Amino acid sequence: MKTLSCREAGFDCDYVVNGESDEEIFKKGGEHAMKEHGMKPEDITPEFKEKLKGLIKSS
Ligand SMILES: [Zn+2]
Repeated sequence: MKTLSCREAGFDCDYVVNGESDEEIFKKGGEHAMKEHGMKPEDITPEFKEKLKGLIKSS
């Protein structure tokens, strides 16, 4: 299981995304960020995803 903390991604938020793969994390996290933080699809750039990738923890 992989997890990504929204707070570590730079938001003041306690949400933690869980997923089986990086792709699932990005899908769920992207939906959360757009719904809760007003991000737009174009805000999720390859650079932003690259940064997030480094924050994903595996357990
Ligand atoms: Zn959040």
